[in-house]
Amino acid sequence: MPSLRAGDYDLVMAIQSPRDADRWYRVLAGRYTATTSLSCDCPAWIYNRTGNRTCKHTAFAAERLQPTTPTPTLTIPRMRLDHPFIGATRTQWAPLRQFVPADGWELHVARVQIGSDAFRLIEMRATGPDGMRAAGTVALAEQHHQTVGAQATAIAGWSGYAIAAAFCRQAGVPLTGEPPAHYRLDRTASDRRQTGAQPATDDTRAILQIGNQRDLGDGLTPTQRAENTLRLFLGATTYALLEQRHFLDVSSGLRPDRVYRIRRDPQKRYERRIRVFEGGRYVNDFCVVRAQSVPEADHYLTVYFGLIANEAWVLSVVGHGNVFSPWSDGGERETVPAVWQPRTAPTVAA
Ligand SMILES: [Zn+2]
Repeated sequence: MPSLRAGDYDLVMAIQSPRDADRWYRVLAGRYTATTSLSCDCPAWIYNRTGNRTCKHTAFAAERLQPTTPTPTLTIPRMRLDHPFIGATRTQWAPLRQFVPADGWELHVARVQIGSDAFRLIEMRATGPDGMRAAGTVALAEQHHQTVGAQATAIAGWSGYAIAAAFCRQAGVPLTGEPPAHYRLDRTASDRRQTGAQPATDDTRAILQIGNQRDLGDGLTPTQRAENTLRLFLGATTYALLEQRHFLDVSSGLRPDRVYRIRRDPQKRYERRIRVFEGGRYVNDFCVVRAQSVPEADHYLTVYFGLIANEAWVLSVVGHGNVFSPWSDGGERETVPAVWQPRTAPTVAA
């Protein structure tokens, strides 16, 4: 059964409102139908109840998704980690800093028209573990004349989310957090049509906070920013589960029946060892030490993301010297069984 929770939607692009620089329209693609169905959270799409639901944003995105659409006009060469858009994305998303190599980043920029308004379309592409590819696309309204810093933080929020989510999906673990959105599926409707605008979720607020933090001067510390990113990435429900239980389970993609229980210090100060279960039995602790000066939430997200998208790398870090007997790091007895679940078939890269 399709659900937002199961990651049945992809963020195709985020489009800035020409009227309000802080307002973004999210074009999402449903993945549970044979043909890609696009939705948008602008009023025109939400209140259009006719059979063939479109708006200028979905029309634009649909055209971009056609393989025959020419590539954008300007490609910024690889190896430009100093580019502010890429730099901001790597700052915001610790796992991408870790898993996308220096030459794995690309930017493609085009001047486009959406409806009657001029936009700069920025597509960020990343090549990650095992050649997995992902992209995030943001359309900036030209008339806002925002600073590079304001543009960079918005692009980092949206594109970083889209890229990180796409890597997890390709690894067979569709996220976790739903794409930031403020509408929901009406599960009782047989045609599964959208029910219309809902109040902005915490996820939406989180991503907007990320997108605007420099200009707002909200004084976020790296620790607060890392916590926001973790929360955004996990989604409100999974994040709440982590807050309540202080662990999340990830089923191994390499070894059937193995589950990694990734624990979190309730005080969010120290990294905890990962409890490894095989066949439901607690067999080992794995120790992954964080790099100095990295916020604890960055480390947690990197390990969580890593065990999904690049498990072999995490295991190589653990090696032989960082495997310990059970209960080597605290005596907490979780009562929740660690149940291995198979990964879904990998989907084709965007
Ligand atoms: Zn729209």
